[in-house]
Amino acid sequence: MGLGHLIPHLEFAKRLVVHHGIRVSLLVVTTSEPSAATQDQLLGSPHLPADLHIIHLPPVDVDKMIIDYDDALVLTRLCTITGESLRSLKSVLIEIGKPKALVTDLFATQAFDVCKELSIPAYLYSTTSAAFNAFMLYLQSLTVMLSHKCEFIDLPGLIQVPGCSPIWIADLLDQDLEPMSIKGIQQNPFFKKIPTPPFYPVGPIIKQEETLSYTECLEWLDKQPPDSVLFLKFGSGGTLSFEQQTELACGLELSQQRFMWVVRKPTDTPGAGFLNSTRDVGFVVSSWAPQVAVLAIPPTEGFLSHCGWNSALESIVHGLPIVAWPLYAEQRMNATLLAEVMGVAVKAKMEAGETGRALSGEKRLREWRGRMMEGEEGKVIRCRVKELKESAAKALNSNRSSYDSPSCVADQWKTELN
Ligand code: UDP
Repeated sequence: MGLGHLIPHLEFAKRLVVHHGIRVSLLVVTTSEPSAATQDQLLGSPHLPADLHIIHLPPVDVDKMIIDYDDALVLTRLCTITGESLRSLKSVLIEIGKPKALVTDLFATQAFDVCKELSIPAYLYSTTSAAFNAFMLYLQSLTVMLSHKCEFIDLPGLIQVPGCSPIWIADLLDQDLEPMSIKGIQQNPFFKKIPTPPFYPVGPIIKQEETLSYTECLEWLDKQPPDSVLFLKFGSGGTLSFEQQTELACGLELSQQRFMWVVRKPTDTPGAGFLNSTRDVGFVVSSWAPQVAVLAIPPTEGFLSHCGWNSALESIVHGLPIVAWPLYAEQRMNATLLAEVMGVAVKAKMEAGETGRALSGEKRLREWRGRMMEGEEGKVIRCRVKELKESAAKALNSNRSSYDSPSCVADQWKTELN
């Protein structure tokens, strides 16, 4: 079940038939999940090879088994439906004539028991990365090593799977933007000892752009190609030094990177030469940009930000990777959190005039953009920020942390007021 599983299983089955002359029966879980229509389309394709037989397992009724079916996690629904469907596996296998081998999915490992009973060799087709497979194999040893001393979530930073890619603990978590710190404050004995007030995570709360009136800058942005414009904005508090600003301007000018740059103070506004030479690729906003609307528009590909927390959340909520250029206060900590814990940012550094002003600005700008948008690092960052975008949306849904917390406080207030 689930297209991310069904598609590779179907492709694998096709290959076994076409390339290896094996007759394959693909046993499919019958479901009314939203993906069912696409599933039917894939399985009903007239181009499937003749020796690939699609067999639907009898439908199951799990409505009563899952409380709040529509709000249950996809994983819960998937495991429950698959588990129930597999009750018919033994009789189906006997009916189709005991196969020579059975290849099952990660969510259907109960099939191993059935295969044992029927003496059918069983295999797992794991449709995920080798790194995750290594981690799953390693889990048992890790559990023994921890011997109940702490939870996985409490492990610091990276888990080094022997001989394999290390795994970030934060990458394994499904929900919440800062699960570790939130759990720490709420549950760690240290915080229980010191005077810690009740702590209610209510975010990510970001600004709702009220007037989507078509300002000049949105009009310009809308005309740019998708995923092409870097949005640059530093906070209301700190600004770049004159040298840094000039270097950044030179970098933008030479790289011809499409950009929108909010430069607040009129005295800092780049000169007329810069404005002229970047007229085709850039837009300079000298006052206030409708930031949330800018981040929400498809041409915006990323955000060069001072890492004020609002800006960071607004970027994440819109699934945009960040070039983190903190200026002061907690912005440096935010930048580290975004780059090293959440994995959604690359850290920028632009010391003025290191290798000749213009060259260094251009080189660095290209480097940041490349790291954020291209290659393996860029892929990981963009994938991570999309995941967090979904988590953020989920966290604000009913039955999730950020929905529960405010309603819990609100209930208390209502009781106290009555
Ligand atoms: N903001 C905006 N347009 C601007 C500048 C700022 O809409 O031109 C908004 C931005 O969307 C964010 C807030 O102002 O909601 C700035 O908060 P943040 O924490 O990012 O930075 P600070 O300015 O507090 O350092």
